Amino acid sequence: MNKVCTSCFEEKEIGLHYYNASRYMCIDCEREAARERMASVQNKAGNAFRTAQKSAAKYGAYDNLSYDDVLYLFKLAGGICSYTNQPSECLSLEHVIPLSEGGTNTIDNILVIDLEVNRQKRITNMMDFIEERYNPHSVLPLVKLLATRGNMPYEQLYDRIFEYQKAESEAQYRRLVEATERKKKVTA
Ligand SMILES: [Zn+2]
Repeated sequence: MNKVCTSCFEEKEIGLHYYNASRYMCIDCEREAARERMASVQNKAGNAFRTAQKSAAKYGAYDNLSYDDVLYLFKLAGGICSYTNQPSECLSLEHVIPLSEGGTNTIDNILVIDLEVNRQKRITNMMDFIEERYNPHSVLPLVKLLATRGNMPYEQLYDRIFEYQKAESEAQYRRLVEATERKKKVTA
């Protein structure tokens, strides 16, 4: 029996040229599509890796992240944002504790999230952000995931994130007080 491939439009024998009768594309076209997907992931991983490396150098952050680590993280993500669990065309590396705040450029401090979500997140704390905007139940699995990668008890990682959140909240509070003080002086 023959079937017309939806990609190359050639009529080919199912038993010889298709993985099975239910596939739309012939084996040659499926392989080509897989190669293209792979090249695209490698390209994105390469860009994300170099961006993270530059940021780490800028902030003097501890850095042992390799290109293979990033490729592994992108493959693991499979096109899904870790915060929203939604498909994303443009994934980026998320440092859970930012490099500018003492976070490290290491696999246990990195999640793969949508670039737009990453931009929105800069205005608030990570945990609050996920709990408020997305699924509150995803916080603990994410912490466990990071702890597993870092080979540490997840309570320890939770403590580290909590300390960061606390410091960040205090900094936000101080900025608010200072802004209020400035406003008072102007109006006085
Ligand atoms: Zn084909």
